[in-house]
Amino acid sequence: MTVRTRFAPSPTGFLHVGGLRTALYAYLIAKQNGGKFALRIEDTDQKRTVEGGVDNIIRSLAWAGIVADEGAHIDEQGKIMQVGDKGPYIQSERLDIYSKYAQELLDKGFAYYCFCTPERLESVRDYQQKNKLPTGYDRHCRDLGSDEVKSKMDAGETHVLRMKMPTEGTTVFQDLVHGEVTFKNELVDDQVILKTDGFPTYHLAMVVDDHLMEFTHVIRGEEWLSSTPKHIQLFKYFGWEVPQIAHLPLLLNADKSKLSKRQGDVAVEDYAKKGYLPEAMINFVAFLGWNPGTEQELYSMEQLIKEFKFEKVNKSGSVFNLEKLDWYNQQYIRSLSCEELVKVSMPWLLEAGLVNENTDRNWLEKALCLEKDRITTLAQLPEALGFVFKLPDYDGQILVWKKSSLEEVKNILPKLTDYLNTISVQEWNKEKLQAMLGEWTVQNGFANGAVLWPLRVSLSGQQNSPGPFEIAEVLGKEETVKRINIALGKLK
Ligand code: GLU
Repeated sequence: MTVRTRFAPSPTGFLHVGGLRTALYAYLIAKQNGGKFALRIEDTDQKRTVEGGVDNIIRSLAWAGIVADEGAHIDEQGKIMQVGDKGPYIQSERLDIYSKYAQELLDKGFAYYCFCTPERLESVRDYQQKNKLPTGYDRHCRDLGSDEVKSKMDAGETHVLRMKMPTEGTTVFQDLVHGEVTFKNELVDDQVILKTDGFPTYHLAMVVDDHLMEFTHVIRGEEWLSSTPKHIQLFKYFGWEVPQIAHLPLLLNADKSKLSKRQGDVAVEDYAKKGYLPEAMINFVAFLGWNPGTEQELYSMEQLIKEFKFEKVNKSGSVFNLEKLDWYNQQYIRSLSCEELVKVSMPWLLEAGLVNENTDRNWLEKALCLEKDRITTLAQLPEALGFVFKLPDYDGQILVWKKSSLEEVKNILPKLTDYLNTISVQEWNKEKLQAMLGEWTVQNGFANGAVLWPLRVSLSGQQNSPGPFEIAEVLGKEETVKRINIALGKLK
């Protein structure tokens, strides 16, 4: 049997990092078994559906390296289309399918019309809460006679369709993460499956689609765990096989509260804009709940496909630790070649107006690599590198090394300029400069810091910066000497 998994988001605005984790795990399971991964769009709640939501989900997934084999896609013209032979994969295009299956449940006596008004439901809930009873629908309309139903229908009373949960016994299933889970049927609600507007609820649509689209695994967030007995009953009422089910641990803030829903904190697209690399994001998200139990922390997508297992997914919530994401991003940025770094950071450099199509690529690679080990996100590059493009204004005091003096800097810098002027442009690279200046410093009896500190500050205009030889190479001879002269001017 081919393994088939799906990610089934509702297009409510943006892709949440929790959604990315669900999609990733479903993708990994499909790929490690040579199966198929699909993207199904659950847009039956029209009130929550946001224009552009589908687009955003597909683009955010693609940014992270997850492209579905089936389901919603974006074509070359940027239009949403669908691929695969089990569609449509967009639920609002499947309404007639859901009505047909709702009717089947009704005919088989597994569903009933409910005419309860929102006010009645609210007063039932109030009563239950006040009396500390389990909350839920009191099954008021479950046993209405057919005449009564008919007369209410004829009178045009607003109604929904509810499924009948068994009122006795238990529903038991094996969750791939939680193991055996048991629910007492009497405590499970008679879930609404068709709403007053005739649209199905998530529960009916999901069961029908997971069956018709032949998914072998349902992988989703823990918030759906309590709905699962309803789904299992629906599968049984239709006489369908229940797929394997995995509920992924909740994501928590550092204080263990449920992870914020604010877009800026949790939208995948915002992390992309902040300059996190997709590889870092995927690695970070993979570890939100999964722990291979080894020392290894860096996993490529290929390695994740090989190694991921539900047995190693925790049951308890996972803390969404941004410092860890920063750490991953640093690791991945450091592992880039200078050429790759230029490629991935281009959008930020262009936006900051630091480069254009005439900027020399080799030079840019060297310049960017000055900061490779120093930045956490790509968005920090323009600011971090600003000094290369334009010397910032700075206070001459910072040119004085802590073990040196103003007099000494005034003495050293002119001599240093004279010496640098004797070095040819051909020899102007960081290795040669380091060797030659090292020798010169010893010969003149200066302390290393007394030379290198003011040199570095003159070139960067900053107390903290990359090393002087690297900067000198990037700036070139002329600009280096010019900046030292500017420094001298500040000491007068
Ligand atoms: N639309 C549901 C969600 O966004 C899907 C849950 C499921 O995968 O069954 O969480």
